[in-house]
Amino acid sequence: MEFRFTEEQERFRRDVREFLLGLLPPGYDPVEQDELDEAGYALAKHVQKALAARGWLCPGWPVEYGGAGMSVVEQAILNEEMAYWRVPRVYGMGPGLVGPTLIKFGSDEQKARHLPRIAAGDWVYWQAFSEPHAGSDLAALRTRAVQDGDDFVVNGQKVYIGDEHEVDYLYTLVRTDPDAPRHRGITAFLIDARSPGITYLPLKPLAGARKNQIFFENVRVPARDMVGPVNGGWTVAMTSLGLERSGIGNVAELRRTFDELVTYCRETRRAGRALADDPTVRARLAELKIELERMRLFSWRTLWRQANDLPLTYEPSQGSLQAKVFGPRFAAVAAEIVGPPALIKRGSRWSALAGRLEHLQRYSLLTHGGGTPEIQKNIIAQRGLGLPRGR
Ligand SMILES: Cc1cc2nc3c(=O)[nH]c(=O)nc-3n(C[C@H](O)[C@H](O)[C@H](O)COP(=O)(O)OP(=O)(O)OC[C@H]3O[C@@H](n4cnc5c(N)ncnc54)[C@H](O)[C@@H]3O)c2cc1C
Repeated sequence: MEFRFTEEQERFRRDVREFLLGLLPPGYDPVEQDELDEAGYALAKHVQKALAARGWLCPGWPVEYGGAGMSVVEQAILNEEMAYWRVPRVYGMGPGLVGPTLIKFGSDEQKARHLPRIAAGDWVYWQAFSEPHAGSDLAALRTRAVQDGDDFVVNGQKVYIGDEHEVDYLYTLVRTDPDAPRHRGITAFLIDARSPGITYLPLKPLAGARKNQIFFENVRVPARDMVGPVNGGWTVAMTSLGLERSGIGNVAELRRTFDELVTYCRETRRAGRALADDPTVRARLAELKIELERMRLFSWRTLWRQANDLPLTYEPSQGSLQAKVFGPRFAAVAAEIVGPPALIKRGSRWSALAGRLEHLQRYSLLTHGGGTPEIQKNIIAQRGLGLPRGR
């Protein structure tokens, strides 16, 4: 088995890195992706435009849709480098979720209207699926859409959506047939985010990153904005969810924080010696490093399967679960090594690693985004191990 990249892939990685680092200003001090301030957001937009100009915003899409037609491995290298160097991104589900969904399920009119705007980085899309009573159990969603002439009229509520910046479209699931079995009465829509009747209520979870509650009150949505067939939204949504679970970016982000932790341990002296010279610290760092490398290999295994058109069932959940479990554990071990500075936010002269360890401890987007650890375990149990569904 060959664990190395080809010469060509290594060259590609060097080129990608050079290009990305060239987009960042001298002395770039990254703010966490889910807490970008105005300056960080402006830089993220600049990066987005530069990526789009190369077709790299949607690198795996066919060139005819504004992508670069990159192979799975090249896309993953790009993702890894983006995450490792903490290149800021505009939050949004256009390139990774909505676009691929439209390529698979969209009408010609939808493709023509949305895909060029997504690939150019012009329009921002939020995934608006979760509801107060429908998170893990997404099929319990209650937001209703009733057909009225050429429109659907939407009423209901979504929660934990988006961020504090602008949005153009909401990629949403609604209930169109309340009498059908739960999964068969749901339809997917792209709803113009500025439609009359939509109210956004900011939600500030303990984790920090700003989310929104969204209320729909008699919002008229043209039938042409339906994605896939009426009452066929569950298949559309499940296909879409599968697209966001390779996990390679999460691992790269954690690897970078680990590398910074090692530097911190080399540079910080306690009781007359560097932390990195303490055998207990070295052992803990070695354990973390081994886990990180193992996770990275798992992610690459998943990508390798994808690149070779082998079926993916439980593998994305396996990668996702590992990062979800490892993140908080990494934060706890790092806090044991670093001590109280690991608990102090960015911006204080007392914080360690520019507040990254403090952020990692409350990074609920990592643990909850795309399904909680328990949901990933259920998927692995059922699709990977063939165990029966729990009651
Ligand atoms: C920071 C953040 C960002 C988010 N961003 C978005 C977004 O952009 N768009 C969007 O649509 N949603 C978003 N969400 C919502 C997210 O998808 C849900 O929070 C997630 O699916 C969990 O749902 P819930 O919060 O309703 O918890 P629940 O589903 O009520 O779960 C509560 C607990 O019960 C456990 N549990 C539930 N069911 C089972 C089961 N069958 N077996 C075992 N354990 C179970 C869960 O693991 C969890 O620990 C976001 C959430 C967070 C925290």
